[in-house]
Amino acid sequence: MQLGPALHRIGNDIVAAYLIVEPEGITLIDAGLPGMYADLRRELDAIRRPIDDIRGVVLTHGDSDHIGFAERLRRDHGIPVYIHSADADRAQGGDKPQTPAGPMRFGPLLRFAAFGIRKGMRPQWLTQVREVADGDTLDLPGEPRVIGMPGHSAGSVAVFSPAARAVFVGDALTTRHVLTGRTGPGPAPFTDDPAEAVASLSHIEHLDADWVLPGHGPAFHGSPAAAVRAVRGAARA
Ligand SMILES: [Zn+2]
Repeated sequence: MQLGPALHRIGNDIVAAYLIVEPEGITLIDAGLPGMYADLRRELDAIRRPIDDIRGVVLTHGDSDHIGFAERLRRDHGIPVYIHSADADRAQGGDKPQTPAGPMRFGPLLRFAAFGIRKGMRPQWLTQVREVADGDTLDLPGEPRVIGMPGHSAGSVAVFSPAARAVFVGDALTTRHVLTGRTGPGPAPFTDDPAEAVASLSHIEHLDADWVLPGHGPAFHGSPAAAVRAVRGAARA
């Protein structure tokens, strides 16, 4: 699905990943669930680009519903996978803190579980990553810049591409709560430190972008400032 001239989305409102498509190559932001590899192939076929045009995968954090098919791209195509050093262990199957899920509703929970079963719930951990730090601008199509967003996990980041006029936020905020089905910008469930996650939103609110793109929920077409305002309101409610 095409959002902008250089901006594509794969997956759906349950789990999504993104492509920055430039003439010189493609940058992937997150890799969804393992079975979404088929969605990636379909999207690349539709725009007539080969898989070897992918120059790198930038992960917003190390959770299993974001690392999806990244290891497969790394192993089979030698595509490097970038992640913040504080989440490098988590992406390779290390321990993660247990967090209470909070409120949930049966219907949305069932849809999330059914999608997971269809697209592969069993995590495919990375065996090798390239570690990045806050403030890094990566030498990849779209010139993605890494912005630390600790809270959901210690190594959660937002990825800002001025070229794509987009900020990819992973689970730093979401626009559809996977467990309740509530739509609109809000805090994500399973967050290690919810207060820190809300505090980190100040790191993106000043960015000049037209899209705020979460790992769960519809694309937010608007400014980061507007998205952040909405999350703060939802967090207080
Ligand atoms: Zn997630």
